[in-house]
Amino acid sequence: MDCIFCKIVNGEIPSTKVFENDKVFAFRDLNPMAPTHILVVPKEHIGSINDVNSDNALIIAEIFKIIPEIAKKENIENSGYRVVSNCGDDAGQTVHHLHFHIIGGKKLSDNMD
Ligand code: AMP
Ligand code: ZN
Repeated sequence: MDCIFCKIVNGEIPSTKVFENDKVFAFRDLNPMAPTHILVVPKEHIGSINDVNSDNALIIAEIFKIIPEIAKKENIENSGYRVVSNCGDDAGQTVHHLHFHIIGGKKLSDNMD
């Protein structure tokens, strides 16, 4: 499959890795919106939140267990951070492999547009 995040997960495209286990991979966003901007992805290809179902939903719990561990390592667990997953065109999803942005390290705007 021609998926950029699958290629990052399997090492075909380089990335700045911040976490990896057997199911989850996390790396720094190429165009960071804040001092910390990390993408957390399942290794398995899931297109978006719309493709989460009873067969694969456990990965979401696994990802949300790892997110605070990454936040701690990045020293933003107390200052705060935002977790975002864009789903579909209106949300501006550009990469169709489920991913969660961890954004922090500065005061973020309230603007959701
Ligand atoms: P989204 O708009 O939610 O689909 O987010 C996709 C994100 O992937 C954007 O923030 C991009 O900057 C980021 N991105 C795209 N290609 C790469 C790459 N090769 N390495 C790291 N981040 C990337
Ligand atoms: Zn993929």
